[in-house]
Amino acid sequence: MIIIMNVNATVREKSAVISKVEDSGCKANIFEGVEHMVIGVIGDGRPLNRDQVRLMPGVERVVPVLKPFKVASREFKPADTVFPIGDYMVGGDEFIIMAGPCSVESRSQIMETAHAVKEAGAHILRGGAFKPRSSPYSFQGLGEEGLIYLKEASEKYNMPFITEVMEPALVPLVSQYADILQIGARNMQNYALLHAVGRSQHPVLLKRGMSSLIEEWLMCAEYILSHGNTRVMLCERGIRTFETYTRNTFDINAIPVAKHLSHLPVIADPSHATGKWEYVAAGAKASIAAGADGVILEVHPRPDEAWSDGRQSLKPEKFAELVHQMKAIATAVDKNIVDPIPAMDPMMLPV
Ligand code: PEP
Ligand code: MN
Repeated sequence: MIIIMNVNATVREKSAVISKVEDSGCKANIFEGVEHMVIGVIGDGRPLNRDQVRLMPGVERVVPVLKPFKVASREFKPADTVFPIGDYMVGGDEFIIMAGPCSVESRSQIMETAHAVKEAGAHILRGGAFKPRSSPYSFQGLGEEGLIYLKEASEKYNMPFITEVMEPALVPLVSQYADILQIGARNMQNYALLHAVGRSQHPVLLKRGMSSLIEEWLMCAEYILSHGNTRVMLCERGIRTFETYTRNTFDINAIPVAKHLSHLPVIADPSHATGKWEYVAAGAKASIAAGADGVILEVHPRPDEAWSDGRQSLKPEKFAELVHQMKAIATAVDKNIVDPIPAMDPMMLPV
């Protein structure tokens, strides 16, 4: 349940309600709004009598949350969650573009790609340093060396960066470098990892598992939110179906559904959702029209030579063309694709 306190509730009244919640064995998640203080009751809530709480001084109303996800739900927080990532805003009117290679392969490759995507209009750099590969014999990523190169590119081109973290023990290391922690589809229900990124208080992009229900996905967001980490983005990256022409089936429905059920920003990943570069632009454009708050796209200067996911990677020229088209669609749906903040280095020379 959610307890909404009166605008004029005193500190003493608020503390009494919080104690009542905690004494029942539940956790009180406190949100100080502009006018009201809102207390989210986390736990199964059974010992807490709703009528008793409603009658406590300072309580305006008590709203039961019928969904299994609570803090992630619109019932809990009707207004969209909006937060800054570097100089950009995620979740509001801005449509955010994240782009870069699937994997960091070398210093020169990430510098070259960062330069190209920045020039084309990307806001955030992506790149995998720890890679979740289906085969143990495939390239597993450069590890910390990859993070060092990403950080260098991020600083040089003035782009916050996102990268995947695969295990709880690596959360402190990856957080030291990255601006956004990515939870991959294969790890969506890795609860120890969700707790760890929740505790880290770092912005998180949570990919939908490849065979997951929207409800399961939102429940996983709930794990992160339950640590008071409110900077969570949901990412639809395609699901498994019987279709084989595409790598996954892009569940475009998931975008309006997630936006309806939750206040969290929704990012689309048409690269993994389609698996073939020639369909990525269509998916990206559809995402904006469907109400997404951003896209994450794989771009590689030479997709034929990519160490992972080359088949779905856009060449920089195609990416630039797509950004141009996305801007036109964004305008039609009242979203704004802002021009990227200039790089620190005015020459922006590729290395
Ligand atoms: C990726 O972003 O490169 C990736 C591995 O994505 P997913 O977890 O969606 O498969
Ligand atoms: Mn990939």
